[in-house]
Amino acid sequence: MVESVSGAGQKGGEVLNPFVIAQQYVKSAVDALGLEPAVYEILKQPAKILEVNFPVVMDDGSIKVFTGYRAQHNTAVGPAKGGVRFHPDVSVDEVRALSMWMTFKCAILGLPYGGGKGGVICNPEQMSAGEIERLTRAYIDAIAEVIGPEKDIPAPDVNTNAQVMAWMVDEFSRLRGYNAFGVVTGKPIIIGGSEGRSEATARGVVLTVREAAKKLGMELQGARTVVQGFGNVGSVAARLAAAAGAKVIAVSEVRGGLYNPAGLDIRAVEEFKAHNGTIVGFPGAEPISNEDLLILDCDVLIPAAVENQLTAANAPHIKAKIISEAANGPTTPEADAILNERGVFIVPDILANAGGVTVSYFEWVQNLMNYYWTEDEVNQKLEASMARSFNTVYNMAVSKKVTMRQAAYMVAIKRVAEAMRVRGWLG
Ligand code: NAD
Repeated sequence: MVESVSGAGQKGGEVLNPFVIAQQYVKSAVDALGLEPAVYEILKQPAKILEVNFPVVMDDGSIKVFTGYRAQHNTAVGPAKGGVRFHPDVSVDEVRALSMWMTFKCAILGLPYGGGKGGVICNPEQMSAGEIERLTRAYIDAIAEVIGPEKDIPAPDVNTNAQVMAWMVDEFSRLRGYNAFGVVTGKPIIIGGSEGRSEATARGVVLTVREAAKKLGMELQGARTVVQGFGNVGSVAARLAAAAGAKVIAVSEVRGGLYNPAGLDIRAVEEFKAHNGTIVGFPGAEPISNEDLLILDCDVLIPAAVENQLTAANAPHIKAKIISEAANGPTTPEADAILNERGVFIVPDILANAGGVTVSYFEWVQNLMNYYWTEDEVNQKLEASMARSFNTVYNMAVSKKVTMRQAAYMVAIKRVAEAMRVRGWLG
């Protein structure tokens, strides 16, 4: 039985809690692989969750106590790896689910990492830079015992960035008494960050679109492409897709979208957003709602915004031939079933958006070696890793006659289970 957890979200009867969804996919993959029930029992939740409550001095001199978490899902193949988010909605369930996905993402890419995730319940939009710095340092002090280059390596996530990573490295290094640059990834380049890291997730997404197009015998040149979300991942994915020859006909952000059937000039949209803080109002395109954008007549759809965008309600109307999930969890399980039934090629999130953690791994390796690669070297290694992993998952899907999502979970769980078996964790 897949267990339910507190706060399980439902929309029109659909299960929306990411932790419940992740457990369902794990159960199904463990069964399809014919593995012993102990594998599911171990993987259905994180091995370790640390909850910390720590005081921070606010700008007005008051003391505020914040709650944070760090979850380590499974470390059978290596240290835990995963981002830290600063958000008012951070919850233990969210951290549990996200740490679980990280284990599988790393396993699919063959990275020597298990899954981790952290978060602090806070609203950075209402905090000064000084308050965010003090909160970051206090969080690192509180979790220092469980992290480290050989134990658990955090990275940026929602509302955390290279500057926050720099404070984390500084605080951890101060505690240890030496520079421990490998304790987090996604750092500024001057203190051990990697070339190519900021574009890596989007680059990986576009590589999976290219590989999927090859399998379908479809030309990427001129492929009508729609991108939902114009943030770190969506804007770069749109730019790289256009650079690869695709015709990006629509993009959107939370406030609305842009549509031009002749193709958008993505650089110009990026510049417009840099000046205006929004893409809405960009000249030379028609406005379009996010709802209409998802069901546009197109060849490729890249959901790069938030979870639960492709649902049982809109899945029957989606026209894309390829969907590459840049966002985490953009497709509900019901929508997934409908789209697969309709023959849409879906590259699942745990494969499609794994380019970011792959280059985080490259950053960590460079830190351990103290030897740094050029952007070209990083991009070439990323391309090779993504193409290899895509084909491993594709071959599993073909040989077992399962969807790309089920195959991705099967590839990941097979690897983690093998490590647990040789280590004696399965008896
Ligand atoms: P971001 O905050 O930079 O951008 C998100 C974009 O989505 C913004 O343009 C925002 O306006 C838009 N958006 C938000 N809510 C929306 C809604 N309801 N409808 C339509 N658009 C909406 O975030 P990001 O870093 O680009 O991440 C996007 C997704 O990719 C998330 O699911 C994230 O977990 C996933 N992801 C990101 C990375 C990474 O390296 N940044 C890695 C793996 C996965």
